[in-house]
Amino acid sequence: MEDKIEKELKKIRDEIINCKKCSFCKIRTYPVIGQGNHQAKIMFIGEAPGVQEDKTGRPFCGAAGKILDELLESVGIKREEIYICNILKCRPPNNRDPKPEEIRACTPYLERQIKAINPEVISTLGNFATSYILEKFGLGDKIQGISKIHGQIFNTNGLKIIPFYHPVVVAYNNSMKETLKKNFKILEKLK
Ligand code: URA
Repeated sequence: MEDKIEKELKKIRDEIINCKKCSFCKIRTYPVIGQGNHQAKIMFIGEAPGVQEDKTGRPFCGAAGKILDELLESVGIKREEIYICNILKCRPPNNRDPKPEEIRACTPYLERQIKAINPEVISTLGNFATSYILEKFGLGDKIQGISKIHGQIFNTNGLKIIPFYHPVVVAYNNSMKETLKKNFKILEKLK
């Protein structure tokens, strides 16, 4: 089983490295494929790499990543226990919002990552990841802005989907850290 997961994740990695499905491949330094435990119970899905992630090829290694690390630590979860990746694998110019056609082009990779890792919990970070995942798992009617559904648990076929604010919100409004910390407590029982 483990071999099968490793094989598929390596295949996905190689395909992403060679991907030319959208124009971001011309401007990226590195694609950001995903990182963490291939048998993770909890999978985190963010939006797209930022400037630091583009430079290193590692997800959430910049400012938002520091906040995420603090949130994980507050509930006793180590990065090595989870798997983390993004809706888009390459950085959009000037960190602009992903366009629908870019999401369509890139998400077949994410769908295969989810299938390979087969997590029990998907924690979505921010609006883009939340809407995409709820729609994908047949919960399109539950989509609302993240301010309405953060911290809720959506059950579907044995999978739990838990939307959170994107940790970058803390960089703009420090009081959001407490909201995120409260929401992250849900994960204590699910890790
Ligand atoms: N923000 C994201 O959504 N993903 C990253 O990898 C970094 C910042």
